[in-house]
This record gives sequence, structure tokens and C-alpha cells, in this order.
Amino acid sequence: MATTNHGNLTVSASGDAGERRLALAGRLDESVALVAHVAAWAAPVVVLETAGIQAINSLGIREWMHFVAGLNGRGARLVHEKCSEVLVEQMCYIPAVRGGGAVRSFHAPYYCPRCDLEAPALIDVEIHGEALRAMEAPGLPCPQCKGPMTLADVPERIFAFLVEQ
Ligand SMILES: [Zn+2]
Repeated sequence: MATTNHGNLTVSASGDAGERRLALAGRLDESVALVAHVAAWAAPVVVLETAGIQAINSLGIREWMHFVAGLNGRGARLVHEKCSEVLVEQMCYIPAVRGGGAVRSFHAPYYCPRCDLEAPALIDVEIHGEALRAMEAPGLPCPQCKGPMTLADVPERIFAFLVEQ
């Protein structure tokens, strides 16, 4: 695996010319130049793992959209895994952020009424597909007290981006 720095973003690339996996972490902003690496990272399947993206600004999301469009242009089918909350937010506003890719799993804000824990929960789209399509938040156990956690937002706002999938 090769890890490289791109301004405020770190990218760990693994896999091969058939399927590439890119794990991104940090801030997606004007310091980040991803488009320059499209040729090096393109593959028939590109898995984008974005759990580590903590913040995104408007210039960063513009760069991201050029990046996913560039991968699409080279014939890549995109898969999104462990999308961070901030990226899910962008996907809700701008469908092009997904670059036509399927979302396998994503983070959503969850809250535990028993122990007051607020934490992003990872939701697997295949496992919870039925609930998500019905705009119902999947019941997930609290990592701290094992009690039932609830979604800390309106389901329609968080899950809307999955509808066109
Ligand atoms: Zn709890």
C-alpha cells in the first residue's frame, strides 16, 4: 500500500490494475489536487473509502467532482465504502458527488438515549436495505452501553441520497 499526501488529505492506495482501493483521510479543500492522479489510480473498479474525511469545503468538493468524473472518463465503476458524514451530506445536496457509484456503507449521526453518547454509526446498505428504502433508521446497538441507539436527525435528510441508487 502506498500512502501519499495531497495538501490536507492523505490517500492510501492499494489493489491492482483490476480493482483499486483508495482510503482518503483529512480535509478536502483547496489544498487538495486529486485530478492529477486520475491516470495512476484509474481501474475498472475503484473503491473509495472516505471514513477519514473530516471536513469538506466548496473548493474541495469541486476538486472531488472533477476527480470522480475523471475516473468515470477512464471507464472506472465507483464503489463508496464507509462514507464519512460530511461526504454523505454533500451527496444529499449534489448527486454528482457519487460519480454514479454505489454506496456500500456510510456513517450517520446516532444518539444513545440511555448513556447520552453521540457518535457516527456505520450503516451497511445491503444488510439494512429494506429499512433504508422505507426511510427508517436501522436499530443499532450503542458501542458504550449496548442499548438501542437512534438516528440523531430526520431519516429523509440522511437517507435521501440512496433513493436514486
Ligand atoms: Zn449507550
